[in-house]
Amino acid sequence: MNGAAPEMATTPWNPEEMMAALRREPGIGEVLPGADIDARYQSDWSGEQGGAPLALARPRNAAELSRVLALCHEGRCPVVPQGGLTGLAGGATPVEGCVLVSLERMSGIVEIDAASATMTVLAGTPLQVIQEAAQAAGFFFALDLGARGSCQIGGNIATNAGGNRVIRYGMARDLVLGLEAVLPDGTILSMMNKMVKNNAGPDLKHLFIGTEGTLGIVTQAVLRLHPGVSGANTALVAAPDFDSAIRLLRHAQQRLSGQVSAFEVMWQDYYLAATTAGGIPAPLPPTHPLYVLLDVQAAAPEEDAARFESVLEHALAEGWIADAAIAQSHADAQGFWALRDSISEMLRTFAPTINFDVSAPISRIEECVARMQDALAREFPGVRAIYFGHVGDGNVHIVVGPLPEDGHSTEKRIETAFYGIVRSLSGSVSAEHGIGLHKRPWLHYSRSEAELSLARALKRALDPRGIMNPGKILAP
Ligand code: FAD
Repeated sequence: MNGAAPEMATTPWNPEEMMAALRREPGIGEVLPGADIDARYQSDWSGEQGGAPLALARPRNAAELSRVLALCHEGRCPVVPQGGLTGLAGGATPVEGCVLVSLERMSGIVEIDAASATMTVLAGTPLQVIQEAAQAAGFFFALDLGARGSCQIGGNIATNAGGNRVIRYGMARDLVLGLEAVLPDGTILSMMNKMVKNNAGPDLKHLFIGTEGTLGIVTQAVLRLHPGVSGANTALVAAPDFDSAIRLLRHAQQRLSGQVSAFEVMWQDYYLAATTAGGIPAPLPPTHPLYVLLDVQAAAPEEDAARFESVLEHALAEGWIADAAIAQSHADAQGFWALRDSISEMLRTFAPTINFDVSAPISRIEECVARMQDALAREFPGVRAIYFGHVGDGNVHIVVGPLPEDGHSTEKRIETAFYGIVRSLSGSVSAEHGIGLHKRPWLHYSRSEAELSLARALKRALDPRGIMNPGKILAP
């Protein structure tokens, strides 16, 4: 298997002919020329800048999308899929002369199958709409992230989004039973499986999950629903050290029968920033090394309250936690979650920043953070960092700033240092946000040459002309 780049790199397309072909073609829905495209389509939430798009297509169904892609394939024109544009890696950023394909018109819930506990949705449906529809039907759709109001399920699937509930329910991949996708040549591939068990050969839906729109465009999905929850037992606790926090996690998982639904760790610097710059009231004094937000969702949380409290009492007696605040109301729990969700406010205080989303085996996380703190103090005096994340999944987010205005030289040096540490711990340079444009230089820190070579071969097989989101994940 060789690692040659796809064909498109050497075969330029003709923008005028492409635009004329799009204009001529009936039944492809709305297509706007580059000059008429609203600025909001120019980048995702990362702000990563790309090229000027040739056109914006907003198909209403898979058939229209299929014709757009078939034309682009024929004309060798690059295509960039766009969901809710909340991505943090520049995956949806336009490339020069591309046709942007927005899924925003393909929105809606097709069916809830209560007996099968599935929901069939169009790819442009916002995550929050899906969560609310599941709840109204007495179910729970477990994917949850801060961007829930704007991100689309197609984008969540394409990035294999993680978020707040992975520890109990898994990532987006674990919540998708079936998919429909359109291949770069316009072929509509329907794999709308509703079963949990289906070992009839290879499960091709995974080609489109976490591949950031580089192999095709997701148009529909069958989602897995879980039994409804009506609330949670929630606590904010202070831990004396990382080892104690993990002992609490393992004890809670065992005593609560695997029902821990969030285990969010905030290092002291994060907690201080959230309760000062972030303006969030502090339920516990800011004097402890670590804070953990522990959340256990249930159908009848009041029935589990005593067991939840006994877990915390045991942890207190063992010295795994030094202090605890247990939410007495929904408002209390929201207050605790506000600490964890106040990152947008803090980003402004630390700007300009670099934002890391890395993972490592849980047993190496303490070392990972300590080495990063050390490297920063030693080599970059004046630059601060806050550490927090879905530590129950081995995932740490780090915001580093403010960065000096030195043409990105400090940024590059910090990235080299931090990603080097992650690599040495066999961690991942992207836990959940994806590679997009931004993390391409570091991909080989977390994937072997053999893996990359196979990924390139898959890309060539599905997208022989290299039109689909070119330059994302794999360098051109
Ligand atoms: P976009 O940003 O539009 O696109 C993302 C990628 O998917 C691009 O490569 C794009 O080309 C591709 N794509 C989009 N739609 C399709 C489709 N239908 N078919 C094929 N490819 C497609 N992420 C997490 O994982 N966990 C978090 O906890 C989390 N928290 C966040 C909090 C905030 C405040 C913000 C702003 C972002 C957060 N994110 C998080 C990142 C982001 O929300 C996710 O990556 C999300 O899944 C992106 O969905 P989107 O619809 O906005 O996709």
